[in-house]
Amino acid sequence: MKTKAVIQKARQFADSFRVTDGKKFRLKDFDPADTLGIKSADKPRAQKALAIGVQTLAELQDKLYAQDKWAVLLIFQAMDAAGKDGVIKHVLSGVNPQGCDVHSFKTPSAEDLDHDYLWRCLKVLPGRGKIGIFNRSYYEETLVVRVHPELLAKQKLPPERVGKKIWEHRFADIRNVEQYLSRNGVVVRKFFLHLSKKEQKRRFLERIETPDKNWKFSASDAAERAHWDEYMAAYEDMIRHTATEESPWYVVPADNKWFTRIIVSAAIIETLDSLGLQYPEVGQAQRQALAATKAALLKKQR
Ligand code: ATP
Ligand code: MG
Repeated sequence: MKTKAVIQKARQFADSFRVTDGKKFRLKDFDPADTLGIKSADKPRAQKALAIGVQTLAELQDKLYAQDKWAVLLIFQAMDAAGKDGVIKHVLSGVNPQGCDVHSFKTPSAEDLDHDYLWRCLKVLPGRGKIGIFNRSYYEETLVVRVHPELLAKQKLPPERVGKKIWEHRFADIRNVEQYLSRNGVVVRKFFLHLSKKEQKRRFLERIETPDKNWKFSASDAAERAHWDEYMAAYEDMIRHTATEESPWYVVPADNKWFTRIIVSAAIIETLDSLGLQYPEVGQAQRQALAATKAALLKKQR
């Protein structure tokens, strides 16, 4: 498959799940089990497509790195067991580790809590030429912190700054920061891996029943299921308020891992392609210098 055809296919896949206008967004319009009609019997073909995607991504990243102009920030949010780690591992398996940083944001440390909530994320933004991956992010501040108000209480915010509009304010601040990043050449793409409650249960049971997967399971993850509907409402509100043309959300069906990976891969390919990446031009003077060096190297015996 030619690169052009891969990119065209990627755009087609990504288009179905991209949300650029939050106002019209309803989570119920998106099915976690959607596969765009591709049957699981076609999985081998899907896997082949993913391998081609990995290769295409590697080529695009090489140009991104060489050009040193744009930075790309990919944010992953999801309920537990939705497959964030697997997506990051598989989709980005071909990229040069030198051009890519992954940051996982867990429960904030004492130092984190001594700062504004964006601090820990903003200090590890990707530099130009790089892809930065956030495994969870400042969006947790509108998700877990919203579902568990006791976490907000721990943030040591001045009480006069915690009003009824706190979530609206957080959304506005996040939108503004992402617009600022976009204006500075940091391209932000956000992925919500949309898993069904039923499939999460199945994966939790699998983690419990498979000794090699036991380490992945924590009882507190299962306890969060009691708040499922609150989380879904928080995700919906978050996407409604922060999906924009320049920093869209992708609501990626997550009940079938092979499909999740194809869509994420497609969205990243489509994003990188939209930047019109080029290897830096070598000018006349530099070409002459290269020729002179080549001649000098060839002239010497060793
Ligand atoms: P894994 O796939 O390994 O389970 P994970 O991302 O779920 O990865 P954990 O260590 O299990 O990592 O969980 C991290 C926890 O930290 C999550 O429950 C998440 O909600 C929580 N967390 C992340 N950011 C914040 C935040 N800003 N405030 C409070 N809790 C947070
Ligand atoms: Mg976890």
